[in-house]
Amino acid sequence: MQEQNIALSSVYPTEVDFDEVPDIRYFVIGFLRNNVFMFDTQDGVVVVDPSAVAEKIIDLAKEQFGKPITHIICTHNHSDHVKGIADIKQATGAVVIASQTDSPLIEDPELVRQRIMPLHKACHVDVKVNGGDVIELGQSTWEVIATPGHTSGGICFLLTKYKGKKPTFPILFSGDTLFAGTTGRTDFVGGSDRDMSQSMARLATLPDNTFVLPGHYAFTTIAAERPTTIAFWTSRF
Ligand SMILES: [Zn+2]
Repeated sequence: MQEQNIALSSVYPTEVDFDEVPDIRYFVIGFLRNNVFMFDTQDGVVVVDPSAVAEKIIDLAKEQFGKPITHIICTHNHSDHVKGIADIKQATGAVVIASQTDSPLIEDPELVRQRIMPLHKACHVDVKVNGGDVIELGQSTWEVIATPGHTSGGICFLLTKYKGKKPTFPILFSGDTLFAGTTGRTDFVGGSDRDMSQSMARLATLPDNTFVLPGHYAFTTIAAERPTTIAFWTSRF
């Protein structure tokens, strides 16, 4: 089983100063190759888009950081990103943070049941956020950026402050909005080409050195995507 071989790696390709950016680690799981991210906030561990294998994720947090999971942040409502949240929340009491727009598809049992692929259990969302909201997770401050297009309530999380100052480089959890070389699909329920175009215009305002951590595949930067993915989408409408 793939689950047996989960190992956490640092997201950074070279050494960085953890006084300036959080020590973010990740692993890849499932047939859709989801990136699951974790970082420590002093009080506990934050997990981003916990795809599946809740028990393993809980164990990894303890093993790697010596702390329980206190927060789960979700970039969008798709099952391959939220499958682990109900069991992690039940086991740890972690606070679940997701977008106001996508929350019904995460927490309403009837809506979850009606999905084409109802692969996740309904789970209460404790904090419902909108674009422009700011969330403090321990020593890091994240701005919520509304990026509809893949789902109507898709959001990205941008690191704007760490240990009281601007980080050396911004970090973006981009979910299935922006990948290396492409975007998430726009042809699922709630998707929209026009919304994706506007979301790319929003991400184009971020600095070139923004380190982008997508929900699948390789990591990238805004500099790398600006002349390709972002240029393509922003010129479409
Ligand atoms: Zn998705």
